[in-house]
Amino acid sequence: MNEDEVATWLVERAMARIKHPTDMGTLENLVDELSLECRRRALQRLVQHCADAQAMNCPICNRSLLVEARHRLREVNSCSGPIQFKRGYGFCEHCGTYFHPADRTLGLQERAPASPRVQEICALSALRAPAGQAQDDVRRLTGINLDPSTLHREARRQGKRALALRDRDEQRTQTPEGLAQLAAQATALPDDFTLIIQIDAWNIRERDHWGQTEAFRAIGKDTGRWHWVYTATLFRLDQRATTASGRPVISQRGFVATRKGVESFQRQLYAEAVGRGVLSTQKVLILADGAIWIWNIAKDRFKDALQRVDLYHVQEHLWGLANQLFGQGSHEARQWVLPYLQKLKNHSNGALEVLQGLEQIKVVIKKLTADQQKAVDREINYFQQHQNRMDYKNGKNLGQPVGSGAVESTCSQYQRRFKLTGQFWSLAGDEDFLALFTLHHNGRWSQLFPHDAKQISMPSLHLN
Ligand SMILES: [Zn+2]
Repeated sequence: MNEDEVATWLVERAMARIKHPTDMGTLENLVDELSLECRRRALQRLVQHCADAQAMNCPICNRSLLVEARHRLREVNSCSGPIQFKRGYGFCEHCGTYFHPADRTLGLQERAPASPRVQEICALSALRAPAGQAQDDVRRLTGINLDPSTLHREARRQGKRALALRDRDEQRTQTPEGLAQLAAQATALPDDFTLIIQIDAWNIRERDHWGQTEAFRAIGKDTGRWHWVYTATLFRLDQRATTASGRPVISQRGFVATRKGVESFQRQLYAEAVGRGVLSTQKVLILADGAIWIWNIAKDRFKDALQRVDLYHVQEHLWGLANQLFGQGSHEARQWVLPYLQKLKNHSNGALEVLQGLEQIKVVIKKLTADQQKAVDREINYFQQHQNRMDYKNGKNLGQPVGSGAVESTCSQYQRRFKLTGQFWSLAGDEDFLALFTLHHNGRWSQLFPHDAKQISMPSLHLN
């Protein structure tokens, strides 16, 4: 039988269902529907072939298994519907565990009913929208009907797998062998490059005491709670270009995001940095706002890195002071601040000039209120603390970023998914899902779904 004969068989069945000329969308759906059982059976037979050909070896140590059963039945829900197949089951004396080796090869998880592509669909849809909203889109795009609880449960399962991979990488930072494995991921590095690391934090709404909202409300307590998500983005300077309109674009970058606290964040960040070549360069630039925890991480993990405070945060400090000294939005405030903003940006010792200016304020302005006095001292302290992180002129000359815009846009990407109106995350759920979101953004999807790395020839459409 060739393709034409299969097509004729399909057309005959379709024609029996069409009474009048109809729209093409209906025809597309009809062809899908009528070929479904055919595809399901083909898949079922192929899966059985693979299971039959599977060697009964331990998937971990590769030793022969003690075979317990040869034909254990399993049912899986695939994109073409439920399929059944039989496969062997055995015990590894070395590892002390029972295995279905075929399940491993096929990419099926224990006691999980979804095929790899169904797993992937659930995971991808959950990255874009909560399960309740995703159901309709999934049905329209794939023809598969997955109820919200299945979508949610399956996405959670994929989140846990992503978290396990992330934990593995975090562990790798603790040993020399592990670091070597991480460093091996950094391929095709240029001879000479600068790695930029930008760090920031945002907060996520979590809920404790699930199901007790009413009881808590009755006693005037809130079950919601904000929690910090520490976030970073990393990229090589040579991977950053500028569009015709002057907007910076970064062709390849890494991401880190966690609510597990600063120490875990620090290890995750280091794992990502090693995977992106930090051990192969002396040139590392860390950019952030003024938060102390960030500079502590820089000191601990990236000792020789150049540190830079986001220029726009520094400018805000000066504007804030100007408004407090000369009146909010006043002409005088503007007149005072503008020359300092220029010095900061364009002089190689601009920060020092600003600092000298701040110290002179007390002499120049005679009648400072106590609050104004305090504000001036606060800014003097700020500039003293950070003046070595304000080499903006040099940074610009080297083509480096002077602002932490890249990590700010990273935070908003996360927030668009994690801070939907009325959305709460459970303590356990959000970290899984952060790991899944991050793995996807880091371009490592095929670590969870190996089929993603194998290009199949599907038609590409040019619709322009
Ligand atoms: Zn074994």
